[in-house]
Amino acid sequence: MPHTGSCLCGAATFTVTCALTQAGACHCGMCRKWSGGILTSVEVPADALEISAGETIGVYTSSEWGERAFCTRCGSGLWFRLTMPGPQHGTYYVNMGALDEPSGIALTEELFIDEKPGGYALTGDHHRMTGAEFWSLLVPCG
Ligand SMILES: [Zn+2]
Ligand SMILES: [Zn+2]
Repeated sequence: MPHTGSCLCGAATFTVTCALTQAGACHCGMCRKWSGGILTSVEVPADALEISAGETIGVYTSSEWGERAFCTRCGSGLWFRLTMPGPQHGTYYVNMGALDEPSGIALTEELFIDEKPGGYALTGDHHRMTGAEFWSLLVPCG
């Protein structure tokens, strides 16, 4: 079942054509600044996101490995996209908050738990990773 999504003002719209069942939350400083809090997102393969209305979509290159898309009219964040070469190139991490119907998607992991502000915590028995654990998965040793 496709998931539709949009920014707050509705000028930017998109459709995710793959099934969405799992979401991750990121507490890293970049996601915190960008989203204003905890960024929850769903992984979407490069060929499973179709932009329906993209005229107002802007892209900010936030690091050497990724870029963040947002609506230039209302400021809503839409997705993070991996731009580094490799098998994951082009993968989207669509902001859960931009989906029209985010219900039914379970939170399965928290990233950068060591950067989470101390004043709040997400409940649930899901996987939690520190920044160091996360980077060790991305950068093969040797
Ligand atoms: Zn907008
Ligand atoms: Zn992050």
